[in-house]
Amino acid sequence: MSDDKPYVLTPNAPIAKKWERPLKEVATLPPYEASAEEKERHRIYSLMLFALMKRFFNGNKNGGRGQYPWREGQLDDDKARYRGGDYLGHNIGALAVDGRGEVIDFDFNHNQLFSSSAEHAEARLIRRVFSLTQIYDSWQTRGPDDPPRAFGYSTVLSNVTVYTSLESCAQCSGIMALGQVGKVVYLQRDPGTYHIGNIMWNLTAREVGGGEAAQIKATAPRPIPGSDIGFDYFDELNEKYAAYFKAVKKKPFHIGDKRKDLSSALTSFLCCDDTLDIYSRAQAEFFKLVKKGAKFPKYRPDKRALTNADALASAQRFFDYAADVGRRGTPHNM
Ligand SMILES: [Zn+2]
Repeated sequence: MSDDKPYVLTPNAPIAKKWERPLKEVATLPPYEASAEEKERHRIYSLMLFALMKRFFNGNKNGGRGQYPWREGQLDDDKARYRGGDYLGHNIGALAVDGRGEVIDFDFNHNQLFSSSAEHAEARLIRRVFSLTQIYDSWQTRGPDDPPRAFGYSTVLSNVTVYTSLESCAQCSGIMALGQVGKVVYLQRDPGTYHIGNIMWNLTAREVGGGEAAQIKATAPRPIPGSDIGFDYFDELNEKYAAYFKAVKKKPFHIGDKRKDLSSALTSFLCCDDTLDIYSRAQAEFFKLVKKGAKFPKYRPDKRALTNADALASAQRFFDYAADVGRRGTPHNM
């Protein structure tokens, strides 16, 4: 087969239409259009996720006695060790919210715990959600009087939104596409993902229905950057990482002590004081919002869904569970 055409059976397949287009067009998305009410709803879950990032923060990438020039603020009082304990994985977390607005569960990156580079938060989370949806549970994925499921019913997560602290890689975008997750809101860019989430969405998106009722449907989740929902920490994290990358690259190459973390890797940036400060401020903002209440308390995306006021209460209940007994993503069982 010649490579000058995509492997498709229909000429109007989305990938066929994009085949001759420049990469830039395939790798970028128009801004996600949402009302102020819907944006607030996404910010509620985004802030709760960052509150969890603060709660489970651990910067000891090279062990508790490693040297971290960008973590001076995290030294113990005796200046001998860094706070944080054992490093289980990178400071990357994700949570899944069902169509009604109930938080289903969360998970963290556990690369270190499993000595693997593939134990990513979103991939772990999606596998968890699938195992949870096989049972009757309190997260409204299935009611006690619902008729028996047809085969395949629980293999689709199109009403689920995933919130992730970092833009998803090819593995995680892949597993979310297999689960047909509807949306993925990411709260920091990751240049190492090569825009794969956008590319997958663009290559699977097609218009369904016609005229006024026309809708765009895609097999891959719709990536939504934090900047599209008014989440200010998104730009701040991206700018701080760019500055960190530059500063680390300028340092002379360091030979010798392998414990000294002079890496320009994003995962090293995620351990430093600047990042912890951002998560801390977001956590404080989440607690303040819980006290003050939502600005659009009555909004709900459809009549079966929770209002923003109830979504905030649900997010707060989930945080209380997760912060106390959830560790870095044990199965939600409250
Ligand atoms: Zn990933």
